[in-house]
Amino acid sequence: MNTAEHASQIDTLYIVDFDRTLADSDKLLEVFMEVTNQYIHLPLEQVKKINADVGAKGDSFDIANYVRDHLAAHGATGEWEKLQKQFTHDSRSLNMLLPGAAELLALLEERGYLYGILTYGNPLWQHIKLTAAGFNHVPRIVTTSKHKGRLISRWQDEGGLFHLPHEFGGGVARRVILIDDKAASFDSFPSEPSLGFQVLDRSRALPAQLGEVPSNVTHCTNLADVIALL
Ligand SMILES: [Mg+2]
Repeated sequence: MNTAEHASQIDTLYIVDFDRTLADSDKLLEVFMEVTNQYIHLPLEQVKKINADVGAKGDSFDIANYVRDHLAAHGATGEWEKLQKQFTHDSRSLNMLLPGAAELLALLEERGYLYGILTYGNPLWQHIKLTAAGFNHVPRIVTTSKHKGRLISRWQDEGGLFHLPHEFGGGVARRVILIDDKAASFDSFPSEPSLGFQVLDRSRALPAQLGEVPSNVTHCTNLADVIALL
């Protein structure tokens, strides 16, 4: 994306979710816990239970702060930087992306579309995961609200134009296209010409991903289906 070239008026801003849309969040957590265990003993069963409980509510477990605090409590604060670096290193030797993720971003890039990642969760953990997944170069916003539609609506003026935050170039867009797995992300999402794609394999959906979505949001089973519609 060339932010400077797009800084004024553009047609569409493409916003892509990170967890469970682009990235395999379960695998990221699993590898993070494996790496952490090389530094300090974690009560794994307890961590898994907290993660499952928090996830069931549709919230994002703050594993990064949990581990950082755990290290501090054991007098091993100095290990935190090393642990993060190793997590990035180990993650990059694996593929943390879901099928179609690399293709989707390549397509947006190729067509010269303005795009960015909008991810919900604890900022520390989200940034660690984004780095591990190799998205350092992608414009991103980490929000602590799971209702992304509400956030996006706040960018809109009375004439319907979107005044983009500086992270997404700071220009003006006619519409926004949001690609996300969770129904809650589309709460208060702007009406047409803006559009949404909910990417969700319903046969394997988590309760937190389900729910009502506005009529301008199309359901897709996977990213290949989204790509076919762009
Ligand atoms: Mg998600």
